[in-house]
Amino acid sequence: MPQRATKRGIERTPLERDCDVLICGGSFAGLAVARELAGSGADVLLIDRYEIGERQTSACGIPTGWLEALDVQRSLQQTFGELVVHTPYTTVRCRLPWTFSTFDYRTLCELLADQGAFTFETAKVDGRSGKVVHTDRGDIRAGAIVDALGWRRVLGAGENIQPPDALLSRGLEVHPDGSGNDMEIWIDRSYVPAGYGWSFPAADELRIGVGSFDPRFHVREPTVRLATDLAADTVRYQGNWIPHALRNATEDGVFFAGDSAGHCLPLTAEGIRTALYFGLAVGRELSAVLGGQRSASDALSGYSRFSASHARAFEWMLRCQRLVPRVAPRLLAGALRAMEAKRFLDWAFGHYLEIAHPRFVASGPRRTPLQVRVPA
Ligand SMILES: Cc1cc2nc3c(=O)[nH]c(=O)nc-3n(C[C@H](O)[C@H](O)[C@H](O)COP(=O)(O)OP(=O)(O)OC[C@H]3O[C@@H](n4cnc5c(N)ncnc54)[C@H](O)[C@@H]3O)c2cc1C
Repeated sequence: MPQRATKRGIERTPLERDCDVLICGGSFAGLAVARELAGSGADVLLIDRYEIGERQTSACGIPTGWLEALDVQRSLQQTFGELVVHTPYTTVRCRLPWTFSTFDYRTLCELLADQGAFTFETAKVDGRSGKVVHTDRGDIRAGAIVDALGWRRVLGAGENIQPPDALLSRGLEVHPDGSGNDMEIWIDRSYVPAGYGWSFPAADELRIGVGSFDPRFHVREPTVRLATDLAADTVRYQGNWIPHALRNATEDGVFFAGDSAGHCLPLTAEGIRTALYFGLAVGRELSAVLGGQRSASDALSGYSRFSASHARAFEWMLRCQRLVPRVAPRLLAGALRAMEAKRFLDWAFGHYLEIAHPRFVASGPRRTPLQVRVPA
């Protein structure tokens, strides 16, 4: 169990201050923004309701290239060259053209935080009025505000769409002790009608869970069942809503990155590398503003266009997410067997990685404005 290091009670002193950049949310997206602002000399404040790395927010699986590019390999736990896909009629082993790794959440967050230069405070964000963010410890006024708070999009303008009506999936996993050699997924309607189950080994722990693209479908019972079928303990639960549609990446002068902007990929629900990718992008835009090379409004519109230039890829993934559950299981088994071909896997996973490629980390000096991608 994570240790609750968050200050409570009388230790929570009032927090009323100004800053140049306020980053709300200290997970993947927020820490990536902070990383890019190191060296800017700006007064950067990062807030989260928990200590950095205290609450794991995912199964922590990512293309290994991202850990290398960010120089956070020390967090790596286990690496996989294959994805094992189970359906009721077949099991296929898909050899990936690049590897996937699981990592330790706390270590990765701490390593990323070390690459930034910012002040950190624990505070719960309640809302915003213009350039003032309201927290449970007081109001913070900032020159630039980033919402990296996850799917709730707390700092958006107006009412938020809430589940189950929002375009959200839901996921839940358990973290029993155990080990394994394979990164496995189950596309099996007996667990979830639209979605998939997974088991990601991470050194001496397994991360076993079920994700449903339909937010009305409850995933606790199938998660317990999948873990039980794998003879694993149902302990240490972790779950959340997962957005599966892009949202505006800027709104009312605020930058949104990661789940708050719907940057999690549909179909696979892979949202860590995209949160890092778009977080770095926000950091680059803000660095250019702080360095005097870009106006604040140009930075907002540049980042908004950059995010929107990925819409085509997200739409394709969403189409696949809607299609796969409709394919008859026998047909799906046949299709998966056909997809085992190396040429197909290299093509498909190559394109998939391109959506947020690790080369982006080193794609230019931290102050270079973004290149907007022209949709293919
Ligand atoms: C069960 C499950 C397993 C997953 N597994 C994977 C996986 O293996 N690989 C992958 O790529 N993706 C995975 N995902 C998706 C991935 O977790 C998210 O897309 C990713 O975490 C988004 O990162 P983020 O930084 O935008 O938001 P988050 O990681 O959700 O971080 C949001 C941060 O904001 C803080 N916060 C939230 N609200 C407030 C508030 N009001 N005040 C102050 N702080 C607040 C939180 O404490 C947190 O630190 C999984 C999701 C789920 C639910």
